[in-house]
Amino acid sequence: MAHGAHRSPLLPPRPDVTLARDCEQCLGWGTVVTRDGHHELCHACQPGPARGESGSPRP
Ligand SMILES: [Zn+2]
Repeated sequence: MAHGAHRSPLLPPRPDVTLARDCEQCLGWGTVVTRDGHHELCHACQPGPARGESGSPRP
């Protein structure tokens, strides 16, 4: 229980750069960096994994 701090993997997700090619959101990277400094799949061009409803809190 003491080791629960590491929940975000350091490796960024693998985007499909073919889809990201013409994307203005990620500039062709397929990933975007959140304000927390984490890499996420670009929501604009990447289909991404289907996330459950237990999702991230949005303001
Ligand atoms: Zn994109």
